[in-house]
Amino acid sequence: MNGMELLLASTNPHKLREVREILEPLGISVQGLDSLNESFPEPVEDSDTFSGNAKIKAVEYARVTGRRCIADDSGLVVDALGGKPGVLSARFSGLGSNSEERDAANNVLLLKLMKDVPANKRSARFVCAICIADPDGTIVTQTTGTFEGVIGTAPCGKNGFGYDPLLFVPEANKTSAQMTPEEKNERSHRGEAVRKFAKVVRDMC
Ligand code: IMP
Repeated sequence: MNGMELLLASTNPHKLREVREILEPLGISVQGLDSLNESFPEPVEDSDTFSGNAKIKAVEYARVTGRRCIADDSGLVVDALGGKPGVLSARFSGLGSNSEERDAANNVLLLKLMKDVPANKRSARFVCAICIADPDGTIVTQTTGTFEGVIGTAPCGKNGFGYDPLLFVPEANKTSAQMTPEEKNERSHRGEAVRKFAKVVRDMC
């Protein structure tokens, strides 16, 4: 595994940091799309599953860059909303012109939709699907991870991104946004999916 290089098919600095924290100690170096001199058109993520969209991103970015790519597709699944926002998590509200504005508007909408949902019906989870693909289209591996919690009644915490301030994790007695990066990675959907990938690669060596 030592010396493996991966291109993360994302410009999200939070995702890049979370993935690096797990893979770099294992000798796998990870670069983000922002590190490339060239920019590439974003593929259309039109699958209705996280795994399908992760595969679309990994295969397409591996093809156009000629690099082994790791892509994640992730989102929040809220039981009381029939699984929404799901694969549409990033643009749930349709508002905002940058990621901070979109995250804030998504959180406002989620709180509004959950306003009358009682405490015992607020279960939710982050889901992450990861796909690693080679430039010739070979899928190296695909893994998934989940991060269980309940939707809070107000945002809490400043760390992380997206819906982190609204996912309260009862066993930790804090939201995902109140966790340190290390605490979040130990429990999170992305942490679980990336560790499963690391295990697959380790077993291949
Ligand atoms: P993606 O970039 O298409 O995978 O969109 C993922 C969206 O799901 C993000 O924009 C967030 O809204 C949400 N999301 C995924 N992972 C997390 C997380 O770790 N914390 C908070 N929100 C997340």
